[in-house]
Amino acid sequence: MDTIVKILSEFKGNYSTIIGLGGGSSLDVAKYVSFKLKKTKILIPTTFGSGSEVTRISVLKINGKKTSFHDDNLLADVAIIDPFFIRNTPMNIIKNSAIDACAQCTEAYDSKNANPYTRFFCKLAFDILEDSILNENYEMLPYGSLLAGLGFGNSSTTLGHALSYVYSNEDISHGHALAFTTTIAHKFNNSIFFDRFLKIVKKLQFTKINLKQDIQNASELILLDRKHLENNPRKVLKEEIVTLLNKINKNELRI
Ligand SMILES: [Zn+2]
Repeated sequence: MDTIVKILSEFKGNYSTIIGLGGGSSLDVAKYVSFKLKKTKILIPTTFGSGSEVTRISVLKINGKKTSFHDDNLLADVAIIDPFFIRNTPMNIIKNSAIDACAQCTEAYDSKNANPYTRFFCKLAFDILEDSILNENYEMLPYGSLLAGLGFGNSSTTLGHALSYVYSNEDISHGHALAFTTTIAHKFNNSIFFDRFLKIVKKLQFTKINLKQDIQNASELILLDRKHLENNPRKVLKEEIVTLLNKINKNELRI
């Protein structure tokens, strides 16, 4: 949000179009700026996983905490998706964005907010992403990520994402956190994707994560995230969140 305030004060608006080029965070800044200034927006992702180029969501950090804004006017006017950008992408970025796309489409498939249209995109997205990751055919990731964006962008992610933000607040990257939080959430929800998701996480090899803050406090914070939790297929209580965070700390699923 600080970046947006700076851009808005420096560039007063003598132009017609804003082009967002970069990863999910850069696109979210471009989206929010053009939303505020009511300008045309062209989004060109260079990493593939956030789906930001086709969603009505902008995730911004406010006072160090990730906050998501939802509005139809945040949608891109034009999105250009080109796998050219994946060729020189470091493996660490590929794996973090690929697991985000996998988390988005599988959580959204199970979401209470899903419908046959969004499930179609989510299922197809996961099939493509899974094949691309397990066979190291990364040029297909942009297409899988685009379909995931169309699916989850019109339904919603759930418990896996809700659990992840307390790790983001400790500077663990979004994808890295999801590798653990979405896996444990799929187990909790008895998701049809649990085994396949775990296999992908193991293939991508993430280092263990550990929540430093007090687990009771973190659970209370997570419980406030109604946007994600109300769409979760199973009701979640505070004690259950505590148990899930403890399981992640002990790495019970041996990720
Ligand atoms: Zn995500």
